[in-house]
Amino acid sequence: MYKIISGKEVSLAVKERVAEKVREFKAEGIEPCLAVILVGEDPASKVYVNNKKKACEFCGIRSLEYVLPEETTQDELVELIEKLNGDSSVNGILCQLPLPKHIDEKTVLNLIKPEKDVDAFHPENVGHIMIGDFNFLPCTPAGIMEMLKSENISLDSKHCVIIGRSNIVGKPMAMLMLKENATVTVCHSHTANLKEIVKQADVIVAAVGRPRFVTADMVKDGAIIIDVGINRGEDGKLCGDVDFDACCEKSSYITPVPGGVGPMTIATLMQNTITAAEIQNKG
Ligand code: NDP
Repeated sequence: MYKIISGKEVSLAVKERVAEKVREFKAEGIEPCLAVILVGEDPASKVYVNNKKKACEFCGIRSLEYVLPEETTQDELVELIEKLNGDSSVNGILCQLPLPKHIDEKTVLNLIKPEKDVDAFHPENVGHIMIGDFNFLPCTPAGIMEMLKSENISLDSKHCVIIGRSNIVGKPMAMLMLKENATVTVCHSHTANLKEIVKQADVIVAAVGRPRFVTADMVKDGAIIIDVGINRGEDGKLCGDVDFDACCEKSSYITPVPGGVGPMTIATLMQNTITAAEIQNKG
């Protein structure tokens, strides 16, 4: 018998904690504020930005939204970020990815002041995550850790297999799992014998970006399955990187898509905004 870990429920608890903290800030005359920048017309990005705005409203965080046209130049974007970096009423800055092709993502992300970098993408914050001494949590991996914690799942001595090595999910996920004394294997598109490796996992984290990539024959009985993927299936519906219907019976815990890791990523972003407000106002 498996259990579904609901990101909707766990994220609600996180956002309620954040909302309480925001009330305390406001009582001290501090209004936490997150600036979100969206460049272009990517429909998925628009949905994410809207969800972030709703989460800010729920938590009482002031949100500033900058929706810029696709043809925005890199210089114009740089100018906006520099303005927000210098605005002491703005605590967090988030630039929604992907950016249009004519804008260099690395240049833009490196420009956001590390103490306002609530996505934790700046090399300085990435370095802190590497050495396990950080202010800003990597949003998606930290959201996953919170889901595991909500079920009192310890990673100590477990074999965690992460499929995907992106800077946003796979790599920071490995760091957080190592910190919790897991043995971690990170797989990618050049991994040989992927199926055999995944089959050894006590915990599978699927962050591949391919619909239903993880199939039942890759799952050991009783494995914990975390599905990070957000894909459109052939039927046009949202689906994850895990074939949920086929894999759930073999798992002990599994996360759904939608309603799994996605809401946790946003909840961690809210948490990071509060951390930013704390660093900037209280040192
Ligand atoms: P990337 O495209 O940056 O990375 C995908 C990773 O999967 C790469 O490391 C790639 O390997 C690996 N990969 C691709 N094909 C295979 C294969 N056949 N076998 C093994 N590994 C493979 O994606 P992200 O990490 O940004 O996102 C992954 C998924 O998670 C997407 O669906 C995305 O939408 C979703 N996502 C969801 C979030 C949430 O909040 N729920 C947040 C962020 C992302 P290689 O490095 O060799 O190319």
